[in-house]
Amino acid sequence: MNIVLLGAPGAGKGTQAARLVQEFGAAHISTGDMLRAAVAAGTPLGQKAKSYMDAGELVPDDVIIGLVKERLQEPDAKNFILDGFPRTTAQAVALDAELNNIERPLEAALLIDVDFEVIVKRLTSRRLCRSCGYIGSVADEVCPTCGGEMYQRDDDNEETVRTRLDVYEKSTAPLVDYYRGCELLVTIDGDRDPDVVYADVKKALNL
Ligand code: AMP
Repeated sequence: MNIVLLGAPGAGKGTQAARLVQEFGAAHISTGDMLRAAVAAGTPLGQKAKSYMDAGELVPDDVIIGLVKERLQEPDAKNFILDGFPRTTAQAVALDAELNNIERPLEAALLIDVDFEVIVKRLTSRRLCRSCGYIGSVADEVCPTCGGEMYQRDDDNEETVRTRLDVYEKSTAPLVDYYRGCELLVTIDGDRDPDVVYADVKKALNL
């Protein structure tokens, strides 16, 4: 399984990726998670990325492309689900070149499609588990899977969410046509129960 998950922030890419990983065991490569880990660890990468992330803007292409190339070299990345990458045409072109290089072509680009106003509501009420990464909502006082503490991401406030959606529309949405052109695009309606979306994801991937 070598796939890219496309879709606006909050469309449900992370939720669907987690399910695929649990059932089929591919590497979940989320550039957002990698950057947040770098910020938390205070590495030079984290220090560079933090201001972009807090503002809802994209981290520069060269930084993120280098990070993903390195990750794809790791032994567990033979099968991968890319979540939140690529986000620009330059990233998509660099990914194609790298996958060509390592002879692991993409099998599909799944677009999880959700209306922006639904996303604003979803993201401003989203809460995550500090221990296991469970993605829940403001209704979850503690993590329903592990009892861990739930927190809100710094960039899940309404103003930053709207900036992230503008950035998505301008920089990332053109990738839909890019992958349609390569005949890899599959579109899934993401404004439904996650179980129903997941059933469609598996159907689309012939799983
Ligand atoms: P996410 O968790 O995917 O919503 O990403 C959170 C933030 O990390 C984004 O708003 C960007 O600032 C940064 N980021 C994540 N992935 C990328 C990427 N592929 N290119 C540029 N910036 C990224």
